[in-house]
Amino acid sequence: MEKLARKQVQKLTPYLSARRIGGSGDVWLNANESPFNNQYQTSFERLNRYSSCQPKELIEAYASYADVEPEQVLTSRGADEGIELLVRAFCEPGEDAILYCPPTYGMYSISAETIGIETKIVPSTSDWQLDLDGIEANLENVKLVFVCSPNNPTGNLIKREDIVALLEITKDRAIVVMDEAYIDFCPEASTKDLLAEYENLAILRTLSKAFALAGLRCGFTLANKPLIDVLLKVIAPYPVPIPVTDIACQALSEAGLSRAKEQVSELNRNRDYLEQVLSSIEGMTVYQGWGNYLLIQCSEGDALFKSAWDNGIILRNSPIKDCIRISVGNREECEVTANFIKKQLDERTA
Ligand SMILES: *Cc1c(COP(=O)(O)O)cnc(C)c1O
Repeated sequence: MEKLARKQVQKLTPYLSARRIGGSGDVWLNANESPFNNQYQTSFERLNRYSSCQPKELIEAYASYADVEPEQVLTSRGADEGIELLVRAFCEPGEDAILYCPPTYGMYSISAETIGIETKIVPSTSDWQLDLDGIEANLENVKLVFVCSPNNPTGNLIKREDIVALLEITKDRAIVVMDEAYIDFCPEASTKDLLAEYENLAILRTLSKAFALAGLRCGFTLANKPLIDVLLKVIAPYPVPIPVTDIACQALSEAGLSRAKEQVSELNRNRDYLEQVLSSIEGMTVYQGWGNYLLIQCSEGDALFKSAWDNGIILRNSPIKDCIRISVGNREECEVTANFIKKQLDERTA
């Protein structure tokens, strides 16, 4: 069967999501999910009918939340589908390329490789910022430049002046895709105001993180109308199931938004707590994080990851040497995790 698959597909290995890696235990801080499980109601009355491609009430609700025009919003099956739509709509297999700056989110390369788009890799600088000269030197055939801010897994923000410089460098050549999956934890860092100035900007958003709806699969792409119109050419006819629209609209209602805001504040406080406890441990580096996760580094980080795993604390190991990414959970999960790590490292130095 494998041989029947496209050559490009034969070469692929499935994305190792936190969910696929699995694990067993009581504390799950590996997928940047929210610890809050909010309740919703939905009706099953219209399920014999197809959904609309871009449900008006959902588009208007998100536009209002994001403070953009409805014509600047596209909804899709999570931000991951937004990534895929951009690649499919703008990149010609065998000709075009995408560019991204590791360490960063894994789905940019997976979406590109699946359909035979070259990936150009320009590693970020030592402080995890954009290497603008390196990017400029590698722009040939590049249609999409992916920038994640707050970056997953490092947690840092990309400097605004560098984003503006990148938009200038790529003007009339390529689209800058700002992945703002975690922007709700630091909304002041959004680049959405740059839409007024740049036709080549696309912004990815999601309800999976701050809105605690990872299982719903609902995301958004923000861009000016000409770009959105191109994406509408390649999107499936019924991408958003009726119950998804229903629940997403409740999450984006006035009550839903104020609850999300409170939960974001609580998670930000828990993150500050984790940061404070972990950074007091000798030999531990905690990188400042702006999303609902922190990247930590210590010697033998892999061994620490493994012993947490064996003790039912499931974290995310990272391709960066000796680094572990910890999602911010509820206060108890943060305490259990911080205490466990402190104990492990204290035992080492004892
Ligand atoms: C979680 C995540 C996404 C995917 O979001 P979905 O809406 O769940 O598909 C996209 N980008 C980054 C950086 C993420 O961490």
